[in-house]
Amino acid sequence: MGRLEQLRDPSSWRRAFVLVRRFRQEPGTANLRRFDPLVEAVRRERAALPGLGEEALLERARSAATADLADDGDLVGLLAVASEVARRRLGLEPFGVQLSAAVSMLRERVVDMATGEGKTLVGFLVAAGLAATGRRVHVLSANDYLAGRDARAGAPLFAAFGLSCAAVVDGMDHAARHAAYRSDVVYATVHQVGFDLLRDRQRPADAQRLVPELDAAVIDEIDAVLLDDAMVPLVLAGDAEPRPEGAPLAGVVAAMTAGVEYEVDGEGRNVSLLEAGIRALEEHFGVDDLYAEDQVGLLTAAHVALHAQALVHRDVHYIVADGQVRLINDARGRVADRQRWPDGLHAAIERKEGIAVTAQAEVLDQMLVETVARGYRVVTGMSGTALEASERLAEDLHLRTGTIPTNRPGIRVDERDRLYLTAERRDAAAAGRVQAAHEAGQPVLIGTASVADSERFAGLLAARGVAAVVLNAKNDAAEAEIIARAGEHGAVTVSTQMAGRGVDIRLGPRAAEAGGLLVLGLGRYDSARLDHQLRGRAGRQGDPGRSVFYTSLDDDVVTEHLIIGLDPRSVDPDGRINDKRFRQVYEHAQRVAEGKLLQLHRTTRRYHTATDQHRRLVLTTREALLADPAALEDYLTRIWPAGSDEPRRWTRPARRSLAVEVALYHLDRAWARHLNLLAELREGIHLRVLGRQDPLEEFNLIATDDFRTLAHEAAAATRDTLAAASEDAATLADLGLRRPSSTWTYMVADNPFGSEADRFFEFIGRALRGDRPPAISYT
Ligand code: ADP
Ligand code: MG
Repeated sequence: MGRLEQLRDPSSWRRAFVLVRRFRQEPGTANLRRFDPLVEAVRRERAALPGLGEEALLERARSAATADLADDGDLVGLLAVASEVARRRLGLEPFGVQLSAAVSMLRERVVDMATGEGKTLVGFLVAAGLAATGRRVHVLSANDYLAGRDARAGAPLFAAFGLSCAAVVDGMDHAARHAAYRSDVVYATVHQVGFDLLRDRQRPADAQRLVPELDAAVIDEIDAVLLDDAMVPLVLAGDAEPRPEGAPLAGVVAAMTAGVEYEVDGEGRNVSLLEAGIRALEEHFGVDDLYAEDQVGLLTAAHVALHAQALVHRDVHYIVADGQVRLINDARGRVADRQRWPDGLHAAIERKEGIAVTAQAEVLDQMLVETVARGYRVVTGMSGTALEASERLAEDLHLRTGTIPTNRPGIRVDERDRLYLTAERRDAAAAGRVQAAHEAGQPVLIGTASVADSERFAGLLAARGVAAVVLNAKNDAAEAEIIARAGEHGAVTVSTQMAGRGVDIRLGPRAAEAGGLLVLGLGRYDSARLDHQLRGRAGRQGDPGRSVFYTSLDDDVVTEHLIIGLDPRSVDPDGRINDKRFRQVYEHAQRVAEGKLLQLHRTTRRYHTATDQHRRLVLTTREALLADPAALEDYLTRIWPAGSDEPRRWTRPARRSLAVEVALYHLDRAWARHLNLLAELREGIHLRVLGRQDPLEEFNLIATDDFRTLAHEAAAATRDTLAAASEDAATLADLGLRRPSSTWTYMVADNPFGSEADRFFEFIGRALRGDRPPAISYT
């Protein structure tokens, strides 16, 4: 590569970016070179260990319990032993760069370490170091399959330190989870942990909590957890009465036509009722004015049904499998397990598809993924794209990030984007490129934006006689096996963005001679960080490899964020744009997208801050009632007027456990009601109450006010129930109370038309200007 070529090469741009950041002491970055002397010391110390007998080595491992990680000598000694144990028990001798990463992480830095550099082993060293010195460690993995795989692989190393290790994955029952969480090192996804925390806070008096207090987290692919998934609400729901109004509404809306009763805006993000649509609804429901104060429920429901019909598309946003609507997670391009949209929307889509509407849930509690992560006392992590996330990690979680060099020099060639006028031209050119590579024996991995895209592109390839394997991330374990073979001579794999993540793609025989893995992205993602993640799949451990993005002006990242008011100066016959300005425009669109996403995250977080505090308060009361006999006495004394005999009646040993159960029951009921109110607030239903204030301030005022009511409400209900209880009542059922007979968990997927908070803002904004609500307007 010539000098000029090198300058144009994005991978050297990244190197430059790294250097500039380091030089400018960018917020959130750390210089990890300061740990070099420690790494050298580890190397020196471990050099003497291979001669050590097995017993003596184990002796040393066990003595780590008294080590102090803040002490340089102890840290060095511990890592030297862990490194030797890894060599003997796992057959892997950590590379210098892996030691460097482990030292940095044990000193609470986040490390940026390229794909294929062996972050799993780094995780073992770090987890062993933390757990051996007495911390309870969770290693948070990207999916259940990886959690299971890594827990099994690391177990022999942990065992040498006398540490137990287990994975928590789907399908484990309460007892198995309970046991797994008692291990010294636990592998799990952040979702599993979050769901179990939610289950814990519903537990009745006699049950044990699943998750011991959160302590230390080692987060694999930390930017995926703390940036991409941070604002995903994890929800615990219980069975509730189905809501009736949906079905007739679905009928009316299904009969509507775009351009007549409603219209969709240019970006495909908003839908508005037109005059004819409003009249149709008013007639059908015998309503005078759909926009009247008391029709806000109907209006909202119509709005939701219309969105389901016009904006949420099968095979882009969801698929239908086994008679169920299954969501596709955009950032991951995978079918998302246990995800639902907010209730109304989910049901509306089920009605649109003509399948049975699944049970409507009452939300019992919910919490953002980020809140789970913030619950740990110590957080560290690693990722191939942590550096791009460093500013956010610093701002959101006060983490500092540094870069670990690669073990061998990277020789991957990152080509400049090829930009086309239309998606069709883009795909034709990309398919031609894939075919040529395939015929030359070069393995190709194609990254697409959606399941529909991946299937369509595989179809294009098939028409050219190229058989491709398509991965949709429907089954992590099965796809792991497939993607592990994506580096074989002539293999062609079409994958949605994160299918098969965390699985090493090794080059098969003769694949290196054919140029190594070619990663071809069809359109860029909403953030350069995700693009970089895809590129990283090529050129691991000094392998040859290439990456290139085929893009077009039709790509979502452009059409959703920019309106381009100029024509390219020069276009090739095949539709390729040779106009430098357009490359800049495309990148600009991506930066706009990133900026919007950041804004959205900040807004969402602001709307959850107060709730998180309130949850902690409820939880403190709850835990006290469960654990501390004096707390019940205290609680009851406060809810009855001074001098009442009732508290004493219920603090007798024979009666107290029922009293606790009743108090918890009412506390949980009140909390669920409170959350419901907040959701409605965010949905804008209570718009009219809010007046003309700053919406966030108003939201917090109402939330705080209602939270105060909540305490009184729970206390009063507890008092009433207990006062009316007969002497022989022994269970909640005897008192006519019932906890939800079943609970289940799910994530609320990204709302395709913006987050709750987003819409809320827009709603309020328009209300302030005296407009009609957004997306529902006369033209
Ligand atoms: P990453 O998570 O950084 O992408 P992995 O942890 O999946 O990388 O490791 C990639 C591959 O490198 C795995 O096959 C692993 O066994 C191998 N590997 C990791 N560390 C070493 C080592 N020190 N020596 C030899 N092979 C290693
Ligand atoms: Mg990995």
